[in-house]
Amino acid sequence: MIKGVKSIKWPIWVVIFLMFFILTFTIGKSIQAIQNITYKEAISVKINSEQIETGIKLQTETKEADSFTSFVTYPYTRIEEIDLPIREWVLEQEKMFYDEMEQTETTLEENIEAHLNVQTEIFKVNDDIFSIVMTAEQLVDNVNEFTLLKTFTIDLDKNKIVELVDIFTKEMKGNEFYLLTKDNIKDEKITNEIDEDKFKEHLQSLHNLEWAIHKNNINFYFNPSEIGTHNSIVEVEVPITQIYKYINDNYESILITEEIEEEIEQIEREQALEPRDLQTNGKYIALTFDDGPHEEVTPRILETLKEYDAKATFYMLGKKAETYPEIAKQVADEGHEVANHSVTHANLNAVSGERIRTEVLDSLTQIEKATGVTPTTFRPPYGEFNQTVIDHAEDSNQSIIMWSVDTLDWKSRNADSIYEVTKNQSRSGSIVLMHDIHPTTADALPQVLKYLSDEGFEFVTVQELLPLIEGEDVGPYYGN
Ligand code: ZN
Repeated sequence: MIKGVKSIKWPIWVVIFLMFFILTFTIGKSIQAIQNITYKEAISVKINSEQIETGIKLQTETKEADSFTSFVTYPYTRIEEIDLPIREWVLEQEKMFYDEMEQTETTLEENIEAHLNVQTEIFKVNDDIFSIVMTAEQLVDNVNEFTLLKTFTIDLDKNKIVELVDIFTKEMKGNEFYLLTKDNIKDEKITNEIDEDKFKEHLQSLHNLEWAIHKNNINFYFNPSEIGTHNSIVEVEVPITQIYKYINDNYESILITEEIEEEIEQIEREQALEPRDLQTNGKYIALTFDDGPHEEVTPRILETLKEYDAKATFYMLGKKAETYPEIAKQVADEGHEVANHSVTHANLNAVSGERIRTEVLDSLTQIEKATGVTPTTFRPPYGEFNQTVIDHAEDSNQSIIMWSVDTLDWKSRNADSIYEVTKNQSRSGSIVLMHDIHPTTADALPQVLKYLSDEGFEFVTVQELLPLIEGEDVGPYYGN
């Protein structure tokens, strides 16, 4: 025990040596940095280190001399694979700054004033992954001013710097990436300033790019020399919802959060609702289902349509949409066209002008309330209409749609018969009339869809078919 105590009583020079030794290793890199700088003036140096995230410290070095100040912050992880490239970049910036300063001084033959400011911003992706955005701003004699930016995305679990090629699949093509990036530059002034050829060339290789993961975006940064802009660094936020298809399996679960996934689903639903551009020589058919939604038949029909990836049009009654708003909503959400078939299925040739107005217009509100979609096509009940109906439809931007194939499903109530009519009468451009209130119609649908898809028909909505059959006014349109 006594021996132990004795052994601690080292001579003071050993203690000083040990302290120096420890210091050299803990802030080894910064000492090396200071030693790298040979400058004629005395430089005062302050170093401060602060823990800012688990596993990441922020090192701050303030240097002051008569002719300059420099304020440098950089992250420090004790993982050599990460720290070394960061430190190298910082040293490079410092060296550039001193070179620039000396050169300016020599040219001007007088004392100059200069500042270097290296800043670090850290974006947390998860407990292990962080994106670090560093900027080096230098101002020499108030004239020579510029900023450079560098990014590092680090993985503290894998002990490495994450490259963009680690995240993206190989299918990311230069031109596609160019368009995607360009579309997200919101400032027109910058868009005009960019040298397109330079920009395109710069985007050819993922290795060239400065990038960071921030919130639900991948941010890309472009230094002026890379894209030909005058002075400022251009930051482009590309939402992950726009590039998720390029993210490979390893990073999918990290980058595509639940929130982003929901957003993607929403976007896909909206895209499904956007009309496709049809070719004039294509083979298209529009299946239409009237008088619903029905609580049993409509879901069965939706199920069959889904199996064939077929889109159809549902001429809903406003009253029924009010009664079964969830089913009406399901129709819309599954990418089908939601259309108007009046409020109560009144014969519009047998009611007053005022009643026509409410039948044609009130249903729009009722259907919209249930589905979130405002119908743009209207089918008069029993196919009965007059000029007043046309006027109201025109005023409310609804095209009047009739049919060209009547399956008579309401009359036959027989699946085989419905199948036979569809088979014998359908051709490209047909609008097929059925009703999603009869179970027999739901029974017939699988064989109808099988036949039509075997024949090479593509199932489209009325809205999609309209440009191929439409004239100048609201119709009526009967299909081919
Ligand atoms: Zn009807």
